[in-house]
Amino acid sequence: MTSATTDITRHFRSLTKADYLKRNGHRSRVIWFTGLSASGKSTLAHTVEEVLFAKGWYTYILDGDNIRHGLNSDLGFSEAARRENIRRIGEVAKLFVDAGVVVLAAFISPYQDDRDRVRALFEPDEFVEVYVKCDLATCESRDPKGLYRKARAGELPDFTGIDSPYEEPAQPELEIDTGRLSVMESVAMVVRYITESEKQ
Ligand code: ADP
Repeated sequence: MTSATTDITRHFRSLTKADYLKRNGHRSRVIWFTGLSASGKSTLAHTVEEVLFAKGWYTYILDGDNIRHGLNSDLGFSEAARRENIRRIGEVAKLFVDAGVVVLAAFISPYQDDRDRVRALFEPDEFVEVYVKCDLATCESRDPKGLYRKARAGELPDFTGIDSPYEEPAQPELEIDTGRLSVMESVAMVVRYITESEKQ
């Protein structure tokens, strides 16, 4: 521990996670969408958030746009930088879960042990790993941001699925095959999982 951390005194909290949960009326947890670029993570995270928000739930999105451009703007795409990217996102998600919020996190997060490390930050039922499954050819044909085209042209080194690995989740809570399902069918599966596990 550095002197900077030993000198910090934690303040007594008069409000705890239990108080936030009681007020909010629903569980807080992270719905962690992982999968190849263009597999549908952002589409699902945003649409699921809209559904939960409309029910009056407390929600928040974490994705590349609000993390890579801000908190993690100093990180690149090497293996070490990707690991640090996911570690920081996990810590941020933990703060939101502590505040009673349902976090929709959409990140390629290609390494199983990085995802497991994030999972280990939470109570067992607070981390829901959703494997947004889609074969590479379909992702590449969608290519909504033109990233595969650039990667194939050699303009984007270390691109997941092309010249950087993606490790499929070993035991995800949910697997959504977006190559076969429509957006609305996929959203419905995630929402059903969330609302049904809410009662347990
Ligand atoms: P990612 O966040 O994984 O990079 P995006 O959500 O940005 O992917 O893009 C996925 C693209 O695939 C969108 O254009 C979306 O409309 C399309 N798509 C087709 N079917 C699905 C589905 N079942 N679920 C999510 N997206 C889908």
